[in-house]
Amino acid sequence: MDRFEPNLRIPGPTGLPPSVREVGAHQMINHRGPEFAVMLERVLTGMKPFFGTTSDIAMVTTAGTGGLEAAVVNTLSPGDRVLGVSIGSFGDRFAKIARTYGADVTKLDVEWGQAADPAVLRAELQRESGYKAVLLTHNETSTAVMNPIPELAAVVHELAPDALILVDSVSGLGAVPFEMDAWGVDVVVTGSQKAWMSAPGLAMIAASPRAWAAMETATMPRFYLDLRAHRDSHAAGQTPWTPAVAVVYQVDEGIRLMQAEGAAGVFARHEACAAAARAGLVALGFELFADQRFASRTVTAARVPDDLDWKAFNGELKRRGLILAGGQGKLAGKIFRLGHLGSVTVEEILGAMSVLEFTSIGMGRAVRPGAAVAAAQVAALESFGVTAVAAVGAARA
Ligand code: PLP
Repeated sequence: MDRFEPNLRIPGPTGLPPSVREVGAHQMINHRGPEFAVMLERVLTGMKPFFGTTSDIAMVTTAGTGGLEAAVVNTLSPGDRVLGVSIGSFGDRFAKIARTYGADVTKLDVEWGQAADPAVLRAELQRESGYKAVLLTHNETSTAVMNPIPELAAVVHELAPDALILVDSVSGLGAVPFEMDAWGVDVVVTGSQKAWMSAPGLAMIAASPRAWAAMETATMPRFYLDLRAHRDSHAAGQTPWTPAVAVVYQVDEGIRLMQAEGAAGVFARHEACAAAARAGLVALGFELFADQRFASRTVTAARVPDDLDWKAFNGELKRRGLILAGGQGKLAGKIFRLGHLGSVTVEEILGAMSVLEFTSIGMGRAVRPGAAVAAAQVAALESFGVTAVAAVGAARA
C-alpha cells in the first residue's frame, strides 16, 4: 500500500491495483473495431467461472442499480406477482424497482442483521402461490450479511418451480464462490466497482436459458437496458450503445489478475480478510452487527457504541488515512462498515486495525496496543489453515 494513499475500506468502489489504474488511462479504441471485440470476448468468457454459468452474460454500461433494473424489466410484466425478500436496504431497493415498473410486489422483510431463513421462505411460498419471480440479495452490503442462496433457491424450486430467481450479487460475485447453474439461479447481477477491482460504470448480468426465454414475452418497458440487444450485439463483438471503454479495459485487467491468483486463492484471501476484520474489531471492543453465522466475506459492520463520539472518531480515522463507511438508511449513525473486497490484502486490514487502535487509544478507550492487530493476524493465519500456535512456533524456530 502506498503510504501516501488512504486505505479505502468502504464496500466499493474499491481501490484499484496499479496495473488496473494504468490500463484505465490507455488511449481510446474504436469500440466497433476488432480490438474491442477481442477484449469483450475475453471479459465475458473470463467472468463465466465466477458466475458459475455457461449461459450468456450481458455487459451494460450502468451502475449496479441499473443492473438490478435490467433484471426486473427484462423478465417481468406489469401486474406480475413478485416476492421481494429483503434483509436490508439493497433488498428494499430491488423490490422498489419491481414496484416502480408495475409488478405486484409482496415483501418478505427480515430483521436487519439476519439472513433470510429458508424455513420462513418455505412458509411464505406455501401460503401464497403464483409468484412469477423471487428477488434475493446475495450479499447485503448495508448490513454485512450474506444470504444462503443455494438453500433459498432450493425452496423456490420445490414450492414455486415456475418462479424466476433474480439475485443481486453486486457486492458478492467474484469474491466468494457462486454457482448460478448448479443452484438454479435465473439472473445474477454484479458491478465493476466491487470484486472486479475496477472503477464504477459496468454492470454484468448473467441470465439462465429460462430467463432469456422469459425476455421474449415480458412486457415491462425497456430500451437502453434491453438485455437481448446487448446479447445480440456481444455476439458481434460489440455493445449496442457506446460502452465505458476505460472501465472495460480495467475489468479486463482485473479478471487477468484474478485468473493469475486463481479463483480459490481469491476466495481464500477474501475469507482471511473478513476473519481478520471481524477479530480485530471485536478485540477493539466493538460489537459486530450481523448474525455471525451469516457474516459477509466482503464487508463487516459493527455497532457504534453509545459512549463513542462517532463523528470525532471517524474524523481522526480519516486524518490517519483510514476511510470507513457509515450506516445506510435506518442504520445511519448506528453502525460503521469496513469493506474488504476486490483489491484487498490481509496487510491492508492489519493496517486498518492499527489505525483503529491508535485512534481508540488516543481517544482514551481501553484498548491494549497491538491487541487488534494481533487478533486480526491470528484470525487471518487460522483462516489460511495455519494455527496460531504453529505460527508462533515457526516464528521462534
Ligand atoms: N446491491 C448491492 C448489494 C450493493 O452493494 C450495491 C452498491 O453498493 C448496489 C446494489 C447498487 O450498486 P450501485 O451503487 O452501483 O448502483
